[in-house]
Amino acid sequence: MANIGFIGLGNMGSPMAINLVKAGHSVTGFDIVTENLDEFAASGGNVVGSITDAVAGAEIVITMLPAGKHVSAVYGGDDGVIANAVAGALLIDCSTIDVTTAREVASAAGAASLEMVDAPVSGGVVGAQAATLTFMVGGGDEAFARAKPLLDNMGQNIIHAGGPGNGQAAKICNNMILGISMIGVSEAFVLAEKLGLDHQKLFDISSTASGQCWSLTTYCPVPGPVPTSPANRGYEAGFTADMMLKDLRLAQEAANGTGTTTPLAAEAAAIYGLFAATGAGSVDFSGIIRFLRGDNAS
Ligand code: NAD
Repeated sequence: MANIGFIGLGNMGSPMAINLVKAGHSVTGFDIVTENLDEFAASGGNVVGSITDAVAGAEIVITMLPAGKHVSAVYGGDDGVIANAVAGALLIDCSTIDVTTAREVASAAGAASLEMVDAPVSGGVVGAQAATLTFMVGGGDEAFARAKPLLDNMGQNIIHAGGPGNGQAAKICNNMILGISMIGVSEAFVLAEKLGLDHQKLFDISSTASGQCWSLTTYCPVPGPVPTSPANRGYEAGFTADMMLKDLRLAQEAANGTGTTTPLAAEAAAIYGLFAATGAGSVDFSGIIRFLRGDNAS
């Protein structure tokens, strides 16, 4: 069992850290929000008041933070993770952030002789609670081998995507497909409505024909065909439109930085931006169909 420092006990980090406690690890948590620390302490975690204290004596340091700027701040500087981690500690960043920052932080860790992986997740809060997350991991073979048993305590599918930053690359490329496909499926249902084609009929045909994809068969944006999809509960998230917008913007940033032409993804980011601006940011991302239909979306 390991001594683990866990920084960022929010919606995702808290249940992930609790699963590590349940697996028998000694987990010391830090968050800038006091209520999050209280909640973690009530679940059997140790809590401290600084990054320095969280990493003291930790063989493994895990972070689950909002965005790249938070990751840079937490890892960098005299009070940060890299300057204070014990020799030989493994650093695991599970936040979803831009590829460039992920590679910069991994490189700074390497310069301090610390192994690091980026390990963003998919599966949401439900997956974090149930320890069924998918982890997309970027880093060296040895670092991946060390991280895997810990990630197994928090997830179901642990995939090594390649070198530093490749976990983030996999995450944003996957969600770029998802954002585009959800809009495509939604547009098809709205057109079917105008043409007098029943939702269930379109589903039955397309789910066994060449239009089939996850956005249709698992997360269908109209109520009825897939009873577990958010459309059946008023588009309660799930995965919010704001989260989808964040990931589409990260994908656009990466596309611009690499000179990659992604016209559909650019349009998807713009559409989700407009949707979120109607006040629908906390609605499930499949609620985009209401925006495309011209319904009151939020
Ligand atoms: P969150 O805002 O609930 O949690 C982030 C936590 O980090 C907060 O508790 C915040 O106080 C803490 N924090 C920020 N700066 C800090 C600092 N300097 N020191 C210590 N703690 C600090 O966000 P979340 O929903 O838990 O998401 C975390 C990450 O996971 C994000 O990158 C998000 O994109 C990604 N993600 C979220 C979901 C989801 O469904 N919520 C799904 C997949 C991936």
